[in-house]
Amino acid sequence: MVDLVSQYEKIQSEVDQAISNVVRSSAYINGPEVKSFQAELEKYLGVKHVIPCANGTDALQIAMMGLGLKPGDEVITATFTYVATAEVIALLGLKPVLVDVDEDTFGLNPEQVKAAITDKTKAIVPVHLFGQCADMDAVMEIAREHNLFVVEDTAQAIGAKYTFKDGSQQSAGTIGDIGTTSFFPSKNLGCFGDGGAIFTNDDELAKNMRIIANHGQTVRYYHDMIGVNSRLDSIQAAILRCKLPHLDSYIAARQDAAAYYDKAFADVEELKTPARNTSSSHVFHQYTLTLADKIDRNALVEYLQSKDIPAMIYYPVALHMQKAYKDERYNDGDFPVTERLVSRVFSLPMHTELEKEQLELITTEVKNFINNQ
Ligand SMILES: *Cc1c(COP(=O)(O)O)cnc(C)c1O
Repeated sequence: MVDLVSQYEKIQSEVDQAISNVVRSSAYINGPEVKSFQAELEKYLGVKHVIPCANGTDALQIAMMGLGLKPGDEVITATFTYVATAEVIALLGLKPVLVDVDEDTFGLNPEQVKAAITDKTKAIVPVHLFGQCADMDAVMEIAREHNLFVVEDTAQAIGAKYTFKDGSQQSAGTIGDIGTTSFFPSKNLGCFGDGGAIFTNDDELAKNMRIIANHGQTVRYYHDMIGVNSRLDSIQAAILRCKLPHLDSYIAARQDAAAYYDKAFADVEELKTPARNTSSSHVFHQYTLTLADKIDRNALVEYLQSKDIPAMIYYPVALHMQKAYKDERYNDGDFPVTERLVSRVFSLPMHTELEKEQLELITTEVKNFINNQ
């Protein structure tokens, strides 16, 4: 699905040097590389504060803690997403309230968000799924109207740009009160292990979240609040500093691959290519198609695998159908769009190193399978 080695080889000497510098400096924790990366990412995103942390799941957790949410508070998020979003909500004793998504763009459905609001609702967590922003005009309007916090899960969409109805533009993750991201190796900006970050333009929130990420200590060994231990390693920061200047070209390479897929599948009626949200650029963390009901998805994935073409299902089970998140509030059929998507979507290889011949092979084999049905 990804080719991290070829990407590394193109900047190998730079990355090796950066790693070696950290090793020789012995500033392995909170070293200057972390501070420099933080400043460079702030500049890239156009956000006041970046708080590096250990991974994207921690970033979400620290965000919820930073907002001071209390057990029983309700947080609205999409049921068609990666588990991390709901996991941290549940871990903190908050109540995840799930809503369905838009069947074309996979972003959370604003009408359903409105309908899910109660007097306990405190926050909305839009997930910018597969690399494009949810409908942030609508989400921000609802949040303002009901005085709710917005935490954008930007793990899959770093570098995406959202254009508001008034023409103003902001980076994904810098629109709500807080944005979170992950530097997991296969993410669009990935390190060589785990890493994550939190974004905010709010000075007070930034200060609190920095304290929370550092054991709740304001002064060493003085703990003013309950925190966690969540740091980005200096080595990972050094690697990310080498990669950040390439992020825009990495995004362009993904968009080129997506354009190739779009064109190759344009007249295949059994395949629905990913729709674009007209307000957001799409940075294609995943290229996710929706397959017509008459085509056997498992057979397609197996056929592709037999040709050494990986294909993945993101995500095969909706959150409200996961054993751990089952809840008497939700039943089969409550979220029809998501329930159809989890049985119909599949994702093709998407990364920065896809060659024409690979794209040609992938698209030809997908079409071969469909034409033989
Ligand atoms: C990857 C991901 C996360 C979690 O990031 P980790 O660094 O793996 O903890 C959270 N949300 C979404 C949508 C993700 O894709």
